[in-house]
Amino acid sequence: MSGSAYKLKCPHCRHGIRVRNSVSQHPLLRAAYLQCTNVNCGATYRGQFEITHLMSPSACPNPEIDLPFADTAIRQAAVERENTKQIDIDDILNPPLTQ
Ligand SMILES: [Zn+2]
Repeated sequence: MSGSAYKLKCPHCRHGIRVRNSVSQHPLLRAAYLQCTNVNCGATYRGQFEITHLMSPSACPNPEIDLPFADTAIRQAAVERENTKQIDIDDILNPPLTQ
């Protein structure tokens, strides 16, 4: 995950944020150390990525993982996001970095 680009914005200067490092806290939770890509800002952060819901079941289920199924509102939001993805200006302005 080091060096990956996400669509996170620096809360101070609104430039992109890069994930510098991340550490697994739990199979559903990962802590990430983030750095603003604006050299004039230089802010760094700690954040978390959490898996919160199951959208579709796994073909290789782990009995130790107990996630709620996404409700209708979450599913609808995912469908709407997919449908608008083609015209998302953020995708155009902030394409994922390839390494
Ligand atoms: Zn910044």
